[in-house]
Amino acid sequence: MQGMMMNRPLKIADILSYAADVHPSGEIISVRTEGDLHRTTYGEISKRVAQLAHGLRDLGVEPGQRIATLAWNGYRHFELYYAISGIGGVCHTINPRLSAEQMIYIITHAEDRVLFLDVTFVPLIEALADKLPADLRFVLMTDRAHMPKSTLDLLCYEEILEGHPTSIEWPDFPEETAAGLCYTSGTTGNPKGVLYSHRSTVLHAMSAAIALPEGTASGRKILPVVPLFHVNAWGLPYITPMTGASLVFPGPALDGKSLFDLMDQEGVYSAWGVPTVWLGLLGQIKEEGRLPDGFKDVVIGGSAAPEAMIEAFETAGVNVCHAWGMTEMSPIGTQGNLPYPMRDLPLAERVAAKSSPGRRIFGVELKIVDEDGAPLPHDGKAAGELYVRGNTIASGYFNNPDASAAAVDKDGWFGTGDVAMIDPTGFLTITDRAKDLIKSGGEWISSLDLENIVMSHPRVASCAAIAVPHPKWDERPLLVVVPEGDQPPGQEELLDMLAEHFAKWQLPDDIVFADTLPLTATGKVSKLTLRKIYANHALPDAG
Ligand code: AMP
Repeated sequence: MQGMMMNRPLKIADILSYAADVHPSGEIISVRTEGDLHRTTYGEISKRVAQLAHGLRDLGVEPGQRIATLAWNGYRHFELYYAISGIGGVCHTINPRLSAEQMIYIITHAEDRVLFLDVTFVPLIEALADKLPADLRFVLMTDRAHMPKSTLDLLCYEEILEGHPTSIEWPDFPEETAAGLCYTSGTTGNPKGVLYSHRSTVLHAMSAAIALPEGTASGRKILPVVPLFHVNAWGLPYITPMTGASLVFPGPALDGKSLFDLMDQEGVYSAWGVPTVWLGLLGQIKEEGRLPDGFKDVVIGGSAAPEAMIEAFETAGVNVCHAWGMTEMSPIGTQGNLPYPMRDLPLAERVAAKSSPGRRIFGVELKIVDEDGAPLPHDGKAAGELYVRGNTIASGYFNNPDASAAAVDKDGWFGTGDVAMIDPTGFLTITDRAKDLIKSGGEWISSLDLENIVMSHPRVASCAAIAVPHPKWDERPLLVVVPEGDQPPGQEELLDMLAEHFAKWQLPDDIVFADTLPLTATGKVSKLTLRKIYANHALPDAG
């Protein structure tokens, strides 16, 4: 028997309409690329979003089309999130830290129609322009007064809004309609597109708001250091208009001092980002001898939060929430706020408990399996590959049937490539990564891609790129090379080869030579063994 309740499609535009109605004075504060601080409210921004949506239609944007952004965290980027998806388009956020090759690949693969970019990225796109689709249009996210001279044919963002009505009747469409596209490079081969729907986005925001109530409560200020080009800044642009929390967007400057000053000035309650940025902030906190005014809560994710970092924050009186997730999960899978009886644990025990990224959020199921895919017990001892299932998890990749087929198992669970244990109370421990990628400062480097280039050198017999722990970047690449013959290639020579294909930050920090590489039982290079052998390898710049 069917229930007899209304069935209204879940729509992203409804989140902002709700905020404008119920939390009109909730703020969005942005450090602009123009150099100043900009303030608006949910009430005001919903009018600009309506204008932008009309402007997009005037540009010829149609439902289903991919509209790209290459931008820092700021209110115009937020406006694009809502206006593009509101009219049925797909907001494709591009990570500016990708290599030129990857960026050209994803813009072409996504068939982006328009690229909205911050002033900072004009030189980057000018350099790529002749390799980008000829019909791609460019909009600079600034006003007429700040439009630079450029070889690109640039439209002006503020002019696109001008003269349009400040309200709009958002169209209805099925809730499964695509709304956002984010390519993950946390996979082997070319980046793969994760295509979020209105339904998955709204459900994720609701689950995350329930699971992370500390900083997201109405009236509090949240600083997403996690970029809007990284899985929708972990859902914050959708969570905060629902709860009535305010957003403080940091713009391009993410060093410890800039973050400290902004947080101090604005009274930021909760800040979200990867471990690398918190190292900078902790350094500044030490230098100032105090916390930024009002700072009470930090969400750390994207890579494992080191215990020393958890301890430093907790000792200073900042609640740490250690979270785990991935692009394919919208992204939050687990969160580490402790249940109430555990919150009063002595510091050392609290820190130990928080080194686990916690328990699953509502809507995400977890299972660990052995090598044959058989489920393992959640006993805190058995470790296996972690699989996930739920309404906010990718069922495949955009326009990529092969990768889509490989992504989920026969029962419809998505393989994360992480190796984990789950204890009887549901706490997760990530023990290793089955995928051999390297995560540096929250960004991926493909070991396979590095190896493919190096293997083409005539004096290289075999090689492996592995992640080595690094105090600042969490992990950095180390290349282990087995030379062919008795004259090994020079380090510089190999780095020069790689530099033709990779961004500078993706190059190995060190190259070592070995006689052989350890192999697994099936004859593959054992990255696990290599990671153990080189776990304490001193990288030249690790300090
Ligand atoms: P991404 O898709 O770039 O967000 O990367 C997702 C991957 O980052 C996961 O599959 C993990 O390998 C890693 N990751 C994210 N959060 C954590 C965490 N708290 N601890 C350990 N690894 C993490």
